[in-house]
Amino acid sequence: MEAKCTICGKPTDTLLCLQGGGKWLTGVLMALGISPGDAKYMIGNLLDCEPDEVFSHQKYEDLPLIVCADCIKKSGKFPPPEPAGIPNPTVLVQPADWH
Ligand SMILES: [Zn+2]
Repeated sequence: MEAKCTICGKPTDTLLCLQGGGKWLTGVLMALGISPGDAKYMIGNLLDCEPDEVFSHQKYEDLPLIVCADCIKKSGKFPPPEPAGIPNPTVLVQPADWH
């Protein structure tokens, strides 16, 4: 199975698992280079709500994000992604004091 990086579209099998509320998840996607509109749309799909409603969704959700190592490196903010299928992938959790 070959997947594509969510950010750049290059084939990759690495992923980063995100865990947080709607606003934080959207912020992570934007920090990775996705436009605010697209990021909200993607998180709206994940949370099954309208893009305009994602920021009010505060319950933590899991988002396995397929992303290549290059895109993570470019952002300069996140731990390297790990190959899909390993038992304990890197999980990036929204800090409790994040607003
Ligand atoms: Zn990429």
